[in-house]
Amino acid sequence: MPELGLIETLADEIRTCRKCELWRQRKNAVPGEGNLDVAVMLVGEAPGYWEDVKGRPFVGAAGKMLDEMLSKAGISRRDVYITNVVKCRPPENRDPLPSEIQTCTLYLDRQIKIIKPKFLVTLGRHAASYILAKAAIETEGITKIHGKIYEASLLGFRVFVVPMYHPAAALYKAKYQDELYKDFQLLKLRLERII
Ligand code: SF4
Repeated sequence: MPELGLIETLADEIRTCRKCELWRQRKNAVPGEGNLDVAVMLVGEAPGYWEDVKGRPFVGAAGKMLDEMLSKAGISRRDVYITNVVKCRPPENRDPLPSEIQTCTLYLDRQIKIIKPKFLVTLGRHAASYILAKAAIETEGITKIHGKIYEASLLGFRVFVVPMYHPAAALYKAKYQDELYKDFQLLKLRLERII
């Protein structure tokens, strides 16, 4: 069981961090939340409006979509840890800059090392790019890699990386919603094999 103290200390560091310019416009940094003794860690892109207001990950419309997908796969939010590549909201929800990703992912790396999930689900292309590059896995765009499961050595331990579309993409396109649903069902099947 990962130490609660380690993750809480890290969350406090994130809440007061000023390592990149995103701190200037944030209401709240969003370190992440969830059970620490979990098999699945979900990594999104960055906080949006409601996440910034509440200081919690995936609490807006995309969060509702994520909850729905988790629920349909029989997975509770209590069974996962949820965080983002970048912990503060980029202005107007723009894409995080490469420099912001490079700076902020020191926190994501530390979270992954503390929690050591069996499955690392990346939501959207930024999370997939970062995690798969870190695992030295060459990939194509998210449309080609979602729904695949990559066994990887990452930060000193073995993990299955599962790239998926970002739930926000599924809000507006039924096709992405179907694909996200299928990918979560696949995750459920793999989880049943190891738990
Ligand atoms: S985005 Fe990350 S690195 Fe930038 S200020 Fe927020 S916590 Fe710090």
